[in-house]
Amino acid sequence: MTDVILVLNAGSSSLKFAVYPKTEGANSPLLRGKISGIGTKPVFSARDAAGLELLQHGFAPIDPKTTADGLIPNLLDWVQAHLSGATICAAGHRVVHGGPHHAGPAVVTKTLLSDLEALVPLAPMHQPHNLAAIRCLAAKAPDMPQVACFDTSFHHTQDRLAQIFALPRALTDEGIIRYGFHGLSYEYIASTLPSYLGNRADGRVVVAHLGSGASICAMQNQRSVATSMGLTVLDGLMMGRRCGTLDPGVVLYLMEEKHMSAQQIKTLLYRQSGLLGVSGISNDMATLEQTDAPEAKQAIDLFCYRAAREVASLAVTIGGLDALIFTAGIGENSATVRADICARLRWMGVRIEAAANVQNAARLSPRGADIEVLVIPTDEETIIAQATRALTCGAGAAAQT
Ligand code: AMP
Repeated sequence: MTDVILVLNAGSSSLKFAVYPKTEGANSPLLRGKISGIGTKPVFSARDAAGLELLQHGFAPIDPKTTADGLIPNLLDWVQAHLSGATICAAGHRVVHGGPHHAGPAVVTKTLLSDLEALVPLAPMHQPHNLAAIRCLAAKAPDMPQVACFDTSFHHTQDRLAQIFALPRALTDEGIIRYGFHGLSYEYIASTLPSYLGNRADGRVVVAHLGSGASICAMQNQRSVATSMGLTVLDGLMMGRRCGTLDPGVVLYLMEEKHMSAQQIKTLLYRQSGLLGVSGISNDMATLEQTDAPEAKQAIDLFCYRAAREVASLAVTIGGLDALIFTAGIGENSATVRADICARLRWMGVRIEAAANVQNAARLSPRGADIEVLVIPTDEETIIAQATRALTCGAGAAAQT
């Protein structure tokens, strides 16, 4: 009987999943899918290994009020039914915050779960959903080993200077530092660089992960040197709903002059800002690109302006730029955004070919360009599957919660 690994990425409004063979080196999923619109209008979609769409048939009707973790029992049954005879032998999860102590993935134990619970205030919109998925699976399949893969781990290679804020030392010592996120995506991109760049893979590379959440990472030798996100996922780029870098004086002003509570400010910064806040129309880039309203155009302009500034700023940390990589939903699909960002970086020597850009080609820069500009689709699930396989299929599988 075949053993498989289940990968889960549970968020506030979506549950992404993928199933991989347990076999070492099998990096193509047997099936992959997601339930989006959780909490409003849930939509199920899944594809098999050949990319053919799989029917929701067998998945119980989804209550719009269900949370992502509430869908896991159904999902397990559905996966089992679509992989006749296969056994799910382990599960891997994306966990947004690993705090200061996790430079790599970890097998889930009771102690780990309570450590991760303590980090909820640092990722209030993500961490609770990640942990709820782990708990739900532990309740449904108590003997199945689970692995937590952290978005922060990839950035543990950064120098201290890149990590600390200019705050009193006691706060830094407490762990109020820049952790950085999207590490699973950056780890995947880093692993693909040699196949795109050959020897230049070890050079000065800036990766722009532009999705609903967005950040940028400067790498050298395929390791993180600096990144735009900080203690929380609010820092850095403007995002779908998040504000990105903000004068901290704005928060003080909102508290003192507008008498807003911490909860109201949290909602404003995490949910009501970014593309949605500036456009007043949508948090979704594709929707804004199809809208004529000047507010939509200004939101896209600000997104690109801020991203270009951040690319240039991060290039300072690695002493220049050999390659610029675009990834995630916007980075992989929006020719408009890529063209705008690259135009703002022309002074640095960034050049792209318009035809290649419109086709979402892998290589956008002209042949022989000093700075390679590439589009590389990210694949966080494969990184999670590899880590889960390594930690649970060897001799040292640890106890479940
Ligand atoms: P992600 O969080 O990586 O799934 O990315 C979601 C973002 O990518 C949303 O803002 C989408 O509107 C955007 N996106 C996806 N496809 C396109 C496209 N063809 N053109 C512009 N934006 C897109």
